[in-house]
Amino acid sequence: MYNQKFKYFVNPEANAEFTEEVCQFCGATKNCLEGEYFDRGDEVTSVCFDCLIDGKIVVNIPEYLQKKLYSHLKDVFSKENVDINKYSNLLSPI
Ligand SMILES: [Zn+2]
Repeated sequence: MYNQKFKYFVNPEANAEFTEEVCQFCGATKNCLEGEYFDRGDEVTSVCFDCLIDGKIVVNIPEYLQKKLYSHLKDVFSKENVDINKYSNLLSPI
């Protein structure tokens, strides 16, 4: 059901780590992700898929990973003769 919502996480219902703790945003009891995914210490303990999809919380991607991804995509685009500037609205160098 959630496969199409999480493009970069294959079959999240089977592969995610869930907690028995209710979603801290809506009180849902099903498909509540462990707070450790969000790397915010005790601030986040449980988030259901629906609240994640609704953007009630986001996953912070560390700057070094953003740079690494940008660099990788730049290389890939270059090899395929694609102008990365076409995607400047999606990819912004840090
Ligand atoms: Zn929720």
